[in-house]
Amino acid sequence: MKHNVRKSIGLFGGTFDPIHDGHLRSALEIQEKLLLDEIRLIPCNHPPLKPEPLASAIHRINMIRLAIQKTPFILDDIELKRAGPSYSVETLKIFRDRYPDASLCMIVGVDAFLNLPSWHQWEKLIQLSNIVVMYRGGYQMPVTGVMFEFLNKHLLTANQDIRSYTAGYIVELKTTELNMSGTEIRDLIKRERDPRFLLPESVWAYIQSNELYGYSSKTKTTKSKIQKEANE
Ligand code: ATP
Repeated sequence: MKHNVRKSIGLFGGTFDPIHDGHLRSALEIQEKLLLDEIRLIPCNHPPLKPEPLASAIHRINMIRLAIQKTPFILDDIELKRAGPSYSVETLKIFRDRYPDASLCMIVGVDAFLNLPSWHQWEKLIQLSNIVVMYRGGYQMPVTGVMFEFLNKHLLTANQDIRSYTAGYIVELKTTELNMSGTEIRDLIKRERDPRFLLPESVWAYIQSNELYGYSSKTKTTKSKIQKEANE
């Protein structure tokens, strides 16, 4: 679908529980390679296919705000305003109505792309938007099966620019593979291990001061006290 495209918008949804460098680095590389006018980070309210996020919507929003300071990314709370499961197809319909002439680009990691057929009304996604698939450590692009066929049917050729199309195309981006996840970070914190350098310092400081994911300043104080006492 190519007609008078006015604006290109990257729509990057996720639980962001918490936001980490895997999300941020990929978004930056997409911005640099595709030259989209904007990239919106869209935290979901109730993930339809995953357990509920551990941190509240407010905390997740606050962490995203801290992480995207001094970056070109935009926080969009569109899904947090909707009750019920946060279906991407509903979000895309709203964007399509709002920006009929825009090139919409739904951004997903390979893991999410492979899982697309289990998403609500998944065939409609490509009618409403383009899809940008970014690489992710630990996952391979499909080489057979339904998603391989879907990919090849919609794959953009090298001389085409995704910004010229409102919807209907897939672009596969070889972003740096950073093998990290929200699950791994939450798990490290719970086990009182240090998650630094997997996420922005400001987000880690926020997690500590709000005692998220099982972090406890008391435990830390007691531990450092014990350590100090042991050293005396
Ligand atoms: P969790 O471990 O809690 O399930 P997650 O880290 O996989 O979370 P989400 O916030 O649910 O992250 O993911 C949002 C989107 O970001 C998905 O499309 C996912 O594929 C992508 N993504 C997450 N982590 C990475 C990463 N390290 N590299 C590339 N893409 C990523």
